[in-house]
Amino acid sequence: MNNGRKPVGILAIQGDFAMHAKMLDHIATPWKLVKHAAELEGVSGLIMPGGESTTMLKFFANEDMGAAIKDFAAKGKPVFGTCAGAILLAKEVLNPPQEKLGLIDIAIERNAYGRQVDSSVRLGECPEIADRSVEMVFIRAPIIRRVGESVRVLGRCEGLPVLVEQGNILAATFHPELTEDETIHRYFLRKLSD
Ligand code: GLN
Repeated sequence: MNNGRKPVGILAIQGDFAMHAKMLDHIATPWKLVKHAAELEGVSGLIMPGGESTTMLKFFANEDMGAAIKDFAAKGKPVFGTCAGAILLAKEVLNPPQEKLGLIDIAIERNAYGRQVDSSVRLGECPEIADRSVEMVFIRAPIIRRVGESVRVLGRCEGLPVLVEQGNILAATFHPELTEDETIHRYFLRKLSD
């Protein structure tokens, strides 16, 4: 897989980037951690992990990483944000509003499952990708409250959109890197050859 290609970048400022690396190892896909904007030159796509979006934003401000990711996406390179990563990619962020890249036309509400459900494992459906239920791990997860017309909902859990796509941008409110299920990562990797 990935013959002669650049590795997949994993944004490694903060959060659970190591678990994405483990998943890519598991499916024999070369990866490279991206800590600085210039490192985007050397990667074919970018995974933005879960963690704390506010912490990552502080770093974005220092490094101009946000502008670099926007340029990267504008070239058509695939970008996949999970949880905090999805928050950073959204066009609109609620609870409270904060800076964002605006690369996918969704409104997303942070920490929307409330304190009582800090984290949970639920079953969701991604009918175009998987012919069985997908185990989804939610950790202080956001909820997608609005989906723009050009956004495709690829996955739902309990009626809510949890995996969405707009062109080269993919966003999940759950953590596919925290289960054994490779389906979502494999789907993202297919976008590299689109
Ligand atoms: N609550 C976090 C945030 O707002 C996201 C949590 C996560 O990525 N698991 O950034």
